[in-house]
Formats: sequence, structure tokens, C-alpha cells
Amino acid sequence: MADKVVKSDGEWCEILSPEEFRVLRQAGTERAFTGRYWDHHEPGIYSCAACGQELFDSETKFDSGTGWPSYYAPVATDSVAEREDNKWGMRRTEVLCSRCESHLGHVFPDGPEPTGLRYCINSAALRHVPRPDQPGE
Ligand code: FE
Repeated sequence: MADKVVKSDGEWCEILSPEEFRVLRQAGTERAFTGRYWDHHEPGIYSCAACGQELFDSETKFDSGTGWPSYYAPVATDSVAEREDNKWGMRRTEVLCSRCESHLGHVFPDGPEPTGLRYCINSAALRHVPRPDQPGE
């Protein structure tokens, strides 16, 4: 794993859009069916919009019907971190970028095979990077 990225709120504000800052740094949630990637099907890697670490591969993306981009696995087990989230009276597992500890979304145990997991991620937390051998977006 690459070195940790640590920045102040002021520094994050300078490099993120207001919506990205709200989601990534304040654990916000974008409205369903509004993000740029819930209905995005180009091959490539989805990286952290805050620090650029590779997080999810298009090969693991599936149509969950939720209105948020959904994946059944991260690119590597150490690319994301998880922590218990009991906000709003719900027991959920929060998913964070392991490098910059930005909020990405949540993981639920109702995904497809082979993992049975559903990583429900905000588009605002991601940046799609096409594969070098593929045409662009
Ligand atoms: Fe990150």
C-alpha cells in the first residue's frame, strides 16, 4: 500500500469540489441515480477521487438497481478500510479509502457471487480511469 495521505480540511477543500468534499470528508451520501457512475459501464479502474489510490475494477461492478455504483470486491483487500457505522439508528459498515481515510460508502452482505458482498459507493468518491489499451470514455 502507498504511504498514507493526510491533509487538513482546508487543503482538501482546495482540491475537491464541494460535493466531493461533502461525501469524502464529511461522510455525505449523494442522492441515488444522480452520480456520474451508477449507470457507467466503461472498462477501467475506479480510483479514489481524493488521493488517487486504485479502489475498484470495472470487472467487479454490477447493476444493483440502487442508483449508486456497486461492486462485489475492492481491487485489493488492503485498498479499502472498514469501520462500524451506527449513525441514523442503522448498523452499517462504512467503507473508507485505506490511504487517505476518505469516506466512500458502505458494504452490505447482499451482493452477488463470488463474494456475496455489495460495496455501495458514491460516484463523487470515485474517478474512473480507462485502461491504457482501451478507448477513452
Ligand atoms: Fe483516498
